[in-house]
Amino acid sequence: MQGKKGLIVGVANRRSIAWAIAQRAAEEGAQLALTYQNERFGENVKDLAAKLENPLLLPLDVTSDEQIDAAFEKLKSEWGTIDFLVHAVAYALKPELEGDFLVTSREGYRIAQDISSYSLTALARAARPLMTETGGSILALSYLGGEKVVPHYNVMGVAKAALEASVRYLAYDLGGEKIRVNALSAGPIKTLAAAGISGFSHMLEFHRQKAPLKKNTELSEVADAGLFLLSSMSRGITGQVLYVDGGYSIMGM
Ligand code: NAD
Repeated sequence: MQGKKGLIVGVANRRSIAWAIAQRAAEEGAQLALTYQNERFGENVKDLAAKLENPLLLPLDVTSDEQIDAAFEKLKSEWGTIDFLVHAVAYALKPELEGDFLVTSREGYRIAQDISSYSLTALARAARPLMTETGGSILALSYLGGEKVVPHYNVMGVAKAALEASVRYLAYDLGGEKIRVNALSAGPIKTLAAAGISGFSHMLEFHRQKAPLKKNTELSEVADAGLFLLSSMSRGITGQVLYVDGGYSIMGM
């Protein structure tokens, strides 16, 4: 990753998957820009960014086209080009992550799709003109709830299904420009976003018991796989969803 520059969207705190990937990429020599969603997260992200060499720090709420444009304008003026983009962003209203999917509200559905799925397409479109030199790599974070029913994951599962389909369509659109688009499907990890899912500690316990590797997924495992997909080691791979889940997703019984 020496000499590579990348934008990481989705750091909230030191438990964030985005931060684990950022640290790993920085260890390998990448230069990073981190974004923070709003002032509430700003201080945290600033403290974390201080551990990196020459980081850029940008405000970015992915629901705002103006903020997306401003962030990429800044990247263009500071760096000219970028080599990779990490999308580790998801949000749903808390009531939508309890009880039945059936009662999902129109507004709750819209919000989950906008923030957790559409934002990948908006960011990929903005990144495209900056991924000029040797192409680029775009990485999104998904979860098994996008293809199988995971009780309480509800509207977020539907958003992850859309996210994974977006990965494939974007991979097709951008492949001619050597821009690759992939996702990691991580097993459950206790983060701020995960805390919003009702019964999350039960999910962790169930995963430990049923996954072939008999353990929970660790941040470092996701970060290492992320590094692989961001680097030229994965240069022949695009449009894929790679599971980092201790094998949980292969089980039928
Ligand atoms: P996290 O809470 O650390 O990260 C979620 C991030 O989304 C936060 O940084 C938050 O600021 C950001 N975000 C939410 N709304 C936003 C908006 N409008 N604009 C900009 N940013 C916004 O939690 P995490 O678990 O590290 O989540 C990162 C990604 O990993 C998500 O896509 C999540 O669905 C996915 N994932 C998580 C798990 C898990 O068990 N933790 C498993 C599989 C996939």
